[in-house]
Amino acid sequence: MRIFDMHTHCFPDALAPKALPTLAAICKSPYYGDGTFDDLCRKLQEAGADGAMILHIATKPTQMTSVNNFAAACQRNGIFCFGSVFPTAENAVEELHRIKSLGLKGVKLHPDYQGFFVDDPAVFPVYETAAALELPIVFHTGFDPYSPDVVHCPPRTLAEVADRFPQLTIIAAHMGGMRMDQEVEKYLLGKSNVYFDTAYTTYSMDAARCGELIRRHGVEKVFFATDFPWSTIEAERALLEQIDFTDEERALLYYENANRIFGLSLT
Ligand SMILES: [Zn+2]
Repeated sequence: MRIFDMHTHCFPDALAPKALPTLAAICKSPYYGDGTFDDLCRKLQEAGADGAMILHIATKPTQMTSVNNFAAACQRNGIFCFGSVFPTAENAVEELHRIKSLGLKGVKLHPDYQGFFVDDPAVFPVYETAAALELPIVFHTGFDPYSPDVVHCPPRTLAEVADRFPQLTIIAAHMGGMRMDQEVEKYLLGKSNVYFDTAYTTYSMDAARCGELIRRHGVEKVFFATDFPWSTIEAERALLEQIDFTDEERALLYYENANRIFGLSLT
């Protein structure tokens, strides 16, 4: 069975030795590996995975160019990338056009790291442009240890964005909202333009609850993902393997959904 990890991270070699331990200390999170691209590729191979999507995040307006250039340089042999914009930057819309022309697969927004609320009208031009360019947006959704007291993208608010921008393909990371499954159930389940990823589900819920949410949202709208280096393929698979999916459902979850949406065409 093919395995594609829809949510991973890495840093440029020069930044990784400092960036990863610093983030880990702030978030009080364990991590696996050294945060570099080479290490990510090695871990994928060890886990028997066929490829991954790397999600990059611009945490300052001035980082957009370098982050997206790094993303473009990472794409090869089963490795694809989402770029990022700092959504309140004055040239964010222009950068979306560059993301498209670089051949990146979508846009990652992390409202906690980037300090904006997802329903702020100031960022609506980013949603409009991403929809027009057919660039899906993956949002970090729900709780994040980086901003434990303020959730910038709760499932309820993201559902309003999904309704307001029906042409926008939204991926609500962490099963629609980390540690907010009640709100996911109430507002996001079944929304036609909203996909979920399973990144770091081991941090949020047990297999029974995860299986229930995947089935009710639609297994054709959920991507297998880990949030590596914050979790591993082995750990996240161990949780999903407890769910009584059919072989066909497993194929959708682990690979076919990503292939259908992003045209991975791995050989
Ligand atoms: Zn992540």
